[in-house]
Amino acid sequence: MEVAAVEGLMQDYELSLQHVLWRIERLHQKREVVTKRDEGIHRITYGEMVPRINRLAGALKQLGVKPGDRVATLAWNNSRHLELYYAVPCMGAVLHTLNLRLFPQHLEFIINDAEDKVLFVDQSLLPLLKPLVGKIPTIKTMVLMTDGAAAPLSGKENGLADMLEYEALIAAQSTDYPWPKLSERMAAAMCYTSGTTGNPKGVVYSHRSQFIHTMGVLQGDNLGLTENDALLPVVPMFHANSWGLPYAAGMAGSKMVFPGRFSADAKSIVELAEQENVTFLAGVPTVWLVLANYLKESGKRLPKVRTVVCGGSAVPRTLMETMDSIGLRILHAWGMTETSPLGSVARVAAGAKPEDELKLRLTQGRVAPGVEIRISDPTSGEELPWDGVAFGEIQVRGPWIARGYHNGYDPGKLTEDGWFRTGDVARIDPDGYIQIVDRTKDVIKSGGEWISSVELENAVMAHPKIMEAAVIGLPHVKWDERPVVYAVAKPEFKGQVTEAEVIDFLRDKVAKWWLPDEVRFIDEVPKTSVGKFDKKLLRANAVPIKEGATEPARK
Ligand code: AMP
Repeated sequence: MEVAAVEGLMQDYELSLQHVLWRIERLHQKREVVTKRDEGIHRITYGEMVPRINRLAGALKQLGVKPGDRVATLAWNNSRHLELYYAVPCMGAVLHTLNLRLFPQHLEFIINDAEDKVLFVDQSLLPLLKPLVGKIPTIKTMVLMTDGAAAPLSGKENGLADMLEYEALIAAQSTDYPWPKLSERMAAAMCYTSGTTGNPKGVVYSHRSQFIHTMGVLQGDNLGLTENDALLPVVPMFHANSWGLPYAAGMAGSKMVFPGRFSADAKSIVELAEQENVTFLAGVPTVWLVLANYLKESGKRLPKVRTVVCGGSAVPRTLMETMDSIGLRILHAWGMTETSPLGSVARVAAGAKPEDELKLRLTQGRVAPGVEIRISDPTSGEELPWDGVAFGEIQVRGPWIARGYHNGYDPGKLTEDGWFRTGDVARIDPDGYIQIVDRTKDVIKSGGEWISSVELENAVMAHPKIMEAAVIGLPHVKWDERPVVYAVAKPEFKGQVTEAEVIDFLRDKVAKWWLPDEVRFIDEVPKTSVGKFDKKLLRANAVPIKEGATEPARK
């Protein structure tokens, strides 16, 4: 019998970021947004920020910004950047956050690919634009964000575009703005992939995806940010929308604490966290590695911090243990620019044995409610079982997962049945815990078998004298590829740790044929623009494996 379709009687409420703006205006006026600036701490409440956001939207309109136009930002984590996070999408335009650590040719490519119309730039970042003179013709206006006085410059004077000053620009506008009615399908923001492999590609978030992602981030079993939290995102506002945290904080009413241009300075982060009673931190593992060292050396502690969200690359076991030992609890999360970015979170499920807790927290966790996941064989495409053994490419689908890239690049990223191919290789156990084994591009193929560079790196980083280690596969005549370790000794052990020592240490930790052919000591592992190990660069500069140096099963 055919079932007659009956429509539900709920409102077609458009899911847009205007709702978050409404909440900060009506409910969270008193919550503070704090920024560390050169001259000291800057404070503003959400209540004081809302009229500025209205003025900013008015200014954008006056500059000729129309619905769908891209408005770029080249800025640190600070309160003006947050104002742009609201004003741009809520007036119908698209916020395009530029990665300030990119090489000029990447910035040029991205700005032109997105066809950005207006560019907001922090004064300290202005020099980054020098090499782009004459190369970014779509930018008609630049707006300088400065804490001092700045004279407007004409396009002729700076070679780029007419430059206005942020405070003067918004001061001339009304504190009321007639926010337009938006459709939830409209683009709200765009972010480019970090380009670790090939050219960066534009990921375009919609209002709807941002709204639902925000609700997802806030769930207790996801990141669980609340009104009582004070959030300090070390993760840049250009890295996958700062993991969605600015909107989550606005929705929840959390206090926001921004490190400005001091995000790489552990001392500044600790001082800011202490002074502002921060409870919630977020950033990539390399940030916490440096912070943990600083805390251990200084003897300082951050007892008010209840959660340190850590993602972007796998959390090494030693890092989680060190952080635990100084009272900072890492919450491990996995995701990517294309997944808005929240994909999975490593919360320990009810009923897990206490002795398994650390192991489970070190996995990439379980897929976030709202997202579906599967692993599939890279060659046959066949779906693989969740048995904790089989590994294949992670594919995901859901309301905050990309279905394509700006300008139609790389259409093959979507499977025929509509799942997004992440390029991450993982096992999933019967309880749903994901264990990322590698990127499809980094996994090492040796003698027809796979070696996980990530697992080998973690094993090396557990050595007490090693601070960080990256593993890449290099060509080998007999075995196709063999692993080579690039290791950085802890400062106190510099020059005092040998290749043989590292390999001996690994013997009872990995299969014999996983033992690296060489361990090369370097001063620092090169990092990508978002702080991950830059294996592309390591590979490009690597000298070949020493002729006849070793066999997999080193003696
Ligand atoms: P991005 O788009 O720059 O955020 O990079 C996304 C990629 O970072 C993912 O596809 C993974 O390869 C990697 N990644 C992110 N989080 C994790 C994690 N928790 N563990 C391992 N790899 C991760």
